[in-house]
Amino acid sequence: MSHETTVLTAPLYEYLLRVGVREAPVLRRLRDETLRRWPDSARMQIAPEQGALIALLVTLTGARHALEAGVFTGYSALAVALALPADGVLVACDVSDEWTALGRPYWDEAGVGHKIDLRLAPAIETMDALLADGRAGWFDFVFLDAEKTEYAAYYERALALLRPGGLILVDNVLWSGRVVDPAADDADTAAIRAFNELVRDDERVSLALVPIADGLTLAVKRP
Ligand code: CA
Repeated sequence: MSHETTVLTAPLYEYLLRVGVREAPVLRRLRDETLRRWPDSARMQIAPEQGALIALLVTLTGARHALEAGVFTGYSALAVALALPADGVLVACDVSDEWTALGRPYWDEAGVGHKIDLRLAPAIETMDALLADGRAGWFDFVFLDAEKTEYAAYYERALALLRPGGLILVDNVLWSGRVVDPAADDADTAAIRAFNELVRDDERVSLALVPIADGLTLAVKRP
């Protein structure tokens, strides 16, 4: 028996998408339009199977209050908002009006625009404002996918914003394999390496790094 994760060849990945993901048509159209507008954005656009996993985790945790750092064109925000209950809220942080403007009509079309509280500012500023506003412990679910060099800073704030038992997801933690490339010494790669080791050694959370898409860390805030 192999202890290795099965490598997703192109045909196997197509198969996974065919039998393992129920992507709502509105999500599919948003993803298609995003890739038409920004063809090189694959790293910023979460994969459909990630959207399915994230939505399932929102349902599983019974989350009502969610936060996302790094909206891009709003695919993950839409997936999360669709999974939140009717009175749920997603605080969505991004600095780009241009990117998020593409997603907003899709959010409204899907009937979940009212659940998404878009904050156009650096995510750290928004998270600090939420803490100053008394939202510590208020959130059930946090998805981190913005500036890689800020991951550790987002993470500390996310831990403060989360209730005990709340879930943090962190995207791109395998960084296309650059985390184990000795020649890769750019700031993003260094930050992700340092972040992964920080979370591994952090007794405040339980964690699992899931090799889905570009790597997704799940960390649960311990009581
Ligand atoms: Ca990402």
